[in-house]
Amino acid sequence: MLRETTVFGPIFSRRLGSSLGINLLPQQGKICNFDCVYCECGWNKDGRGDTKLPSAADVRLALQTKLEECASAGIPIDSITFSGDGEPTLNPEFPEIIDLTLALRDLYYPLAKVSVLTNATRVGVPAVFEALKLVDNAILKLDAPTDAQAALVNRPAGEYHVADVVESLKRFEGNFVLQTMFLKGPGWATEDWVKEWMDIVRVLRPREVMVYTIDRETPMAGLKKYTVEEMRALVQPLIDEGLTIQIKG
Ligand code: SF4
Repeated sequence: MLRETTVFGPIFSRRLGSSLGINLLPQQGKICNFDCVYCECGWNKDGRGDTKLPSAADVRLALQTKLEECASAGIPIDSITFSGDGEPTLNPEFPEIIDLTLALRDLYYPLAKVSVLTNATRVGVPAVFEALKLVDNAILKLDAPTDAQAALVNRPAGEYHVADVVESLKRFEGNFVLQTMFLKGPGWATEDWVKEWMDIVRVLRPREVMVYTIDRETPMAGLKKYTVEEMRALVQPLIDEGLTIQIKG
């Protein structure tokens, strides 16, 4: 499922309230440096129709127009979330886009929270790291504790080393949300490596951990989800140690 506009919504949910989404990827295509077996946008090879990334000027115009429309209609906006068809930090103007989004948020809806969902592959890039530090919720993905397991689940393009990402994540000093997908694939399951993953969580001590599982059709066939109870049992040691864990079934 691909989003067709740069700014979409507002969408209403119990968790986020009234939320606007921003897609920094093409309007008719997916661009990501991961190719996760569970990606709701499908495989990268099937999403190459359109490669034009929105510029900072495009985002400014689309977001300002939407915020003006919502404000004049009295529609509340509780959050603005970067979550598009691929990896938002691959947009070369990502840092500038974060700056302008925060400025427009302050102008129209100063109480709205700005969140970025990212696969964390580019947190080692100084400008990306600095931009992520500015937002209210940097939601950073770490699905696998080793490169071999990441190759199974995330299928990264080019070099990807979990150890390097963990080093970069340490620089947030816990002020981020760690997001991890729990699933069972052909011949493997998250429970095979959850102990190693928990050791990384203990080192990083994020202010919140978001554990979730698949809930839509996936590009790889044969994936199985976990129940909330199963996920809770797996992460119980971290809950007992005082970490804040959100479990989404
Ligand atoms: S990182 Fe996100 S957008 Fe990229 S392939 Fe994985 S799930 Fe899809």
